[in-house]
Amino acid sequence: QKFKEGLTKTRNSFSERVNDIVARYRKVDEEFFEELEEVLITADVGVTTVMELIDELKMEVKRRNIQDPKEVRAVISEKLVEIYQGDEEGPSNLNIEEGRLNVILFVGVNGVGKTTTIGKLAHKLKTEGKSVLLAAGDTFRAGAIEQLEVWGERVGVDVIKQSAGSDPAAVMYDAIQAARARNVDVLLCDTAGRLQNKVNLMKELEKVKRVIEREIPGAPHEVLLVLDATTGQNAMSQAKQFSEATNVTGIALTKLDGTAKGGIVLAIRNELNIPVKLVGLGEKMDDLQPFDTEQYVYGLFA
Ligand code: GDP
Repeated sequence: QKFKEGLTKTRNSFSERVNDIVARYRKVDEEFFEELEEVLITADVGVTTVMELIDELKMEVKRRNIQDPKEVRAVISEKLVEIYQGDEEGPSNLNIEEGRLNVILFVGVNGVGKTTTIGKLAHKLKTEGKSVLLAAGDTFRAGAIEQLEVWGERVGVDVIKQSAGSDPAAVMYDAIQAARARNVDVLLCDTAGRLQNKVNLMKELEKVKRVIEREIPGAPHEVLLVLDATTGQNAMSQAKQFSEATNVTGIALTKLDGTAKGGIVLAIRNELNIPVKLVGLGEKMDDLQPFDTEQYVYGLFA
């Protein structure tokens, strides 16, 4: 239900336009496909993904001998699920195991919704009965530590911090010791997101990651890149930059509720081969959902 509501904007614009094409065409021809292609591209699905989809659609239409444009509509969602899902089954779960300290590192540029996502995930994990601790690793941006503390209070989890400007790797070290001492299940680590000095930022992230790796073999168990769905192709280029610099294991895509271009989800998966693991569908505590391909695709057409 949440998924459906959160995708209202994308769904409205998407189905409206697909319906419009379907209504205008009497038969499924080359022009029909060209218009469909355009709708998908403007929805941020990504050129490569769109081409693949259109090719698949054409083959399927031929195979089933479909003449009526209305019938193509159903095939689109079928094929989208097929292409997107690949060999993956069900919702993309976070790599969290019982009986160990799980460390999740959050990366991404300022303003994408990193702090909010950490707060929401802390709430979700707590609801599932896990103990959670937050690490205030963005020591650079003014107000970042306080903002994380506000979320910590709201959700009822502690925040490990040092003063502004201190070394984020030292914050992580402290946070890991505290998490161990308190027998915490999941440590969620915030990091800086200034892009003005990319080289510096990437070095800082490397160092933070090294400290975590040294302290806990096998950690961080997830490196989640937070991307803002409303920024479209900009999000794609951020994904490329971050995944070159650090081993991103999943994506948290925020603000899907605020865009009519939700197709970015498909582009990320298909072109970068990084799974979208979480989606943000609003500003409130429980507006974070695990990503589920079928729910998403069928949500677009519902
Ligand atoms: P950060 O700089 O990356 O830590 O970004 P913040 O967590 O401060 O978020 C920036 C803004 O985006 C805030 O106003 C959030 O409330 C808003 N935001 C974050 N996630 C979502 C979401 O999923 N949907 C909507 N509508 N707003 C969001």
